[in-house]
Amino acid sequence: MSQLNNPNSAPSHPFFAQALLDWYPRHRRDLPWRHTHDPYAIWLSEIILQQTRVQQGLPYYEKFLAAYPTVQDLAAAPEQEVLRLWQGLGYYSRARNLRHTAQQVVNEYGGQFPGSYAELLKLRGIGPYTAAAIASFAYNERVGVLDGNVYRVLSRVFGITTDIAAPSTRKEFQQLADQLISVEEPGEYNQAIMEFGAIQCTPVNPDCLFCPVREQCFAFQHGMVRQLPVKTKAKASRTRYFQYLVLRHGETVYLRKRTGKDIWHSLYDFHLTETPTADLPAVNLLGEAERLGGRVATNRVAEPAAMMKHALSHQKVEARFHELWLEAPLSASALKESGLEPFTATQIEELPKPVIITNYLSKQGIL
Ligand code: SF4
Repeated sequence: MSQLNNPNSAPSHPFFAQALLDWYPRHRRDLPWRHTHDPYAIWLSEIILQQTRVQQGLPYYEKFLAAYPTVQDLAAAPEQEVLRLWQGLGYYSRARNLRHTAQQVVNEYGGQFPGSYAELLKLRGIGPYTAAAIASFAYNERVGVLDGNVYRVLSRVFGITTDIAAPSTRKEFQQLADQLISVEEPGEYNQAIMEFGAIQCTPVNPDCLFCPVREQCFAFQHGMVRQLPVKTKAKASRTRYFQYLVLRHGETVYLRKRTGKDIWHSLYDFHLTETPTADLPAVNLLGEAERLGGRVATNRVAEPAAMMKHALSHQKVEARFHELWLEAPLSASALKESGLEPFTATQIEELPKPVIITNYLSKQGIL
């Protein structure tokens, strides 16, 4: 695996670790998870920061630590509450895994995070990157961390032209990361290289002029800063067209908990029909509502339908919301069959929802 065979072996290219360790204390951003060696808090910050910018993730980190100061608190929290707290961060499987992993730590490890990289890897939702981050930051274990920032820095400084989007490339970079890491301060070194990639050797316009490794940097010396790292483009994302039927009666709005293998699992949205194009006629709104057991007050069909867009990592969602007012509440059998549930605005406030649904409800003045 990526752990070093000999944790005491001297790092290759010692100038590199030293330059970063000198640079780091003078430039690092003061972030709360940098003041702790608690593996729980570090793990929390790492999961929150996956696919999330630091500024966006920061309030979530603070909210989660305040709500669940220990791994036991998080393990005991209801899923709905955790999802609600996570709302707005996206990639909701992370929130579900978070709670599941907390339960795993409590049930299988007596509430103590495993104390090594190899053991951490056995936890759900913890891959090589997160395990290396926790093991080095919390326990000072000498294992190189590899995130997008580190790939970029290594590729540029050491002139590696392998495609970083190819899964087979990880081994090559991991070997180098493990060889470079400081013997005395592996945790500090890992933080330093990640921060260096985040604020100095940035994807666009890196600050080469004031860079401490400029003289040794392959990309800088060979005029290849713009070409490195090599990364093939991700596949173009597809667009999905959601037609939401928003059924309302009096103060009641009908929502449904999402199940099945798709985006937004366990979050709440409205009755949904997905259509191949944006065209509305594909959905017979009144017929659909009646099929669900609702009698529609036809004079109160909202027109035109509200439209909202939301970009996810590999897909875009174009959602149209068709609001229909019912003449009577849905019957118990209609609710059972449709999976819809009646909620008041106050109850909806407490439900975990995709951002697009929250935005719609706010726009309509329901929230
Ligand atoms: S010289 Fe430029 S490209 Fe090279 S490590 Fe420094 S900032 Fe990055």
